[in-house]
Amino acid sequence: MDAPTSPPLSSLDGDAPRTVLAVFAHPDDESLMCGGTIARLSDAGVRVILMCASRGERGSVSDPALVPDGDDLGRVRSGELAEAAAILGIAEVITLDHADGDLRWRDVPQFHAEIVDAIVRYQPEAVLTFAENGLYWHLDHIGVHERTFTAVKSFGAEAPPLYYVTMPKGIIRDVVDAVHAKSGEAVDTSFWGIEPDAFGEAEMPPSLAIDVRPWVPRKLAALRCHRTQMGTHNPIAWIDEDEARRWLGVEFFRRSPLPCAVRDPVLEQLGAPVAT
Ligand SMILES: [Zn+2]
Repeated sequence: MDAPTSPPLSSLDGDAPRTVLAVFAHPDDESLMCGGTIARLSDAGVRVILMCASRGERGSVSDPALVPDGDDLGRVRSGELAEAAAILGIAEVITLDHADGDLRWRDVPQFHAEIVDAIVRYQPEAVLTFAENGLYWHLDHIGVHERTFTAVKSFGAEAPPLYYVTMPKGIIRDVVDAVHAKSGEAVDTSFWGIEPDAFGEAEMPPSLAIDVRPWVPRKLAALRCHRTQMGTHNPIAWIDEDEARRWLGVEFFRRSPLPCAVRDPVLEQLGAPVAT
């Protein structure tokens, strides 16, 4: 396949690099939620900074051999994240050491300050994070949404635009059902033990859809770097590129109603509005 190309992006004032800051909870969130958009932004010359609030040390382990005796899952997952970030073209990964599983309650002022500091330091023209429902009411994801919302809001009229990564209901259900139909009992009928219908949101529709189909091979490759999470029983291990393009080839965002100072945010240039 020819290398995908991106349309030229209108430049901001000055020579500062165009930057997007993504704030997520665990290694793998970035690839599943918006790996295609990150790769597309990177190819367009946008500097993508990923802030990962934890090392995901309390996550599942698909194969105990990936975390041999004496090793810790957080270290292994940080390594997986570094591999995925390289594939997606992420310029810098900021891994924080907040406690996986307690992101909603612990270190609240510190986490808030870290996001504020990153916005000051990198001057992003857009910030990406989870929506209010944390994709499937995952409390860590909801905590990251809350901290990021509050941090962005603290900039008032000077805030960068804030986008929530979201997913229409039914996408993960379609993936799981289709993969199970072709693979039989070898693959889970859930996603990390979570009911497929729990993923996505119907009440708050997306406002922006970004076509990432040419970037799906990299999104899939990045997802599969997270070997402790995407083992042989996970549906992600079983979908081919055509299937991934069909189900994961468009990424959805909802823009927060917070006021912002950026006139022509980069995401709006890449995406198409979603009729509501
Ligand atoms: Zn997560």
